[in-house]
Amino acid sequence: MEFVTLNNGVQMPKLGYGVYQVDPAECERCVSDAIAAGYRLIDTAQAYYNEEGVGAAMAKSDVPREELFITTKVWISNAGEAKAAASIDESLRKLGTDYLDLLLIHQPVSDYYGTWRVMEAAYAAGKVRAIGVSNFYPDRLVDLCNFVDVQPAVNQVETHAFMQQQKAHEVMAKYGVVHESWGPFAEGRKDFFNNPVLAAIGAKHGKTVAQVALRFLIQSNVVVIPKSVRPEHMAENFDVFDFTLDASDMDAIRALDQEESAFFSHYDPETIE
Ligand code: NAD
Repeated sequence: MEFVTLNNGVQMPKLGYGVYQVDPAECERCVSDAIAAGYRLIDTAQAYYNEEGVGAAMAKSDVPREELFITTKVWISNAGEAKAAASIDESLRKLGTDYLDLLLIHQPVSDYYGTWRVMEAAYAAGKVRAIGVSNFYPDRLVDLCNFVDVQPAVNQVETHAFMQQQKAHEVMAKYGVVHESWGPFAEGRKDFFNNPVLAAIGAKHGKTVAQVALRFLIQSNVVVIPKSVRPEHMAENFDVFDFTLDASDMDAIRALDQEESAFFSHYDPETIE
């Protein structure tokens, strides 16, 4: 595994396993399979309702806790100083661990400054090794960075070949924030897995569309957390460190950028409170 060093020195794997939309009843099996396939970073969230499944898989695994990298996220209903602290303790309980490796604010709505102050306290108390945000577009990220004590280590945003976030990436890099992708395959939207450019580059390297898509992000200094409930896809998505995309491959994939969300925009007034 390759690692990126966060702004506080913590080492984070460049590739992990995400459990969004993994049925709580199936989550323990999925995370156990992912750990067996070699994944060490597991990305969950309070809003996924499957933290207990992640915890059960961790408890059964032979992999020492310190080799795992566990991320969860504070949901908007737990935002603010009154609720966030108890929600973090609840996540720790469900995950069966006394510390998180990374804790993120899930979305920049509600009282996220209050949430951040609680996360800073959890960080100071040793409950969390690093704190960051998710779905913060450049304006909100820069605002937060300018008005908080502990700088965010990570920003997890929708990032894939069709929405590459190139300008946002530059802002994150300027502020020392590691860019993490969610939805590295756009969840298959826009016929992702049949894209002819990605397929042709894959054929050239003896790799699949999924592997090319992940490799492109890793080579762009973006952490990836693909999701699959199928062990063969978990293994395929993990097998991306034995080839390198060349400059022409990278240019061809950069040209696929539509600079538009395949889901929804966090600039949409409907999503902002
Ligand atoms: P994704 O882009 O990783 O797509 C997952 C889907 O792609 C799978 O359900 C499967 O249908 C397909 N797939 C996976 N591997 C494949 C392969 N090798 N070949 C063919 N098909 C394959 O979508 P995602 O799950 O939304 O994103 C990944 C992770 O990012 C999530 O699990 C979650 O942890 C995180 N996430 C975070 C947010 C956020 O708001 N912070 C939002 C969405 C997702």
